[in-house]
Amino acid sequence: MPVRVHVDPDLCIGSAECVRILPEAFRLVKARGVSVATDAAPDAGPQRLDEAVRSCPTGAISVSRSTPGDPDDRH
Ligand code: SF4
Repeated sequence: MPVRVHVDPDLCIGSAECVRILPEAFRLVKARGVSVATDAAPDAGPQRLDEAVRSCPTGAISVSRSTPGDPDDRH
C-alpha cells in the first residue's frame, strides 16, 4: 500500500520533534526553518509515523495510505 508522508511548510515551525522521533524519516532544513519528509519516511512504519504525527505541535505532518480503487481516490 503506497504511503505518502508530507510536511506542510506553512504549518511547520521547525520544532524538530519529528526529527527527534524519526531521524531517518524527517530532516530539518535549517535555512528554511522547516522539516521535510525524506525518501525513507514511508518505510518508517505506521506506528512510528503515527507517533510523529501526534508529536507535531502544529499538525503539520500528514500521512496518507491508499490503494488504487480506494474510495479516497475517486473524484
Ligand atoms: S514536529 Fe511538526 S512543527 Fe516540528 S519540525 Fe516536525 S513537522 Fe515541523
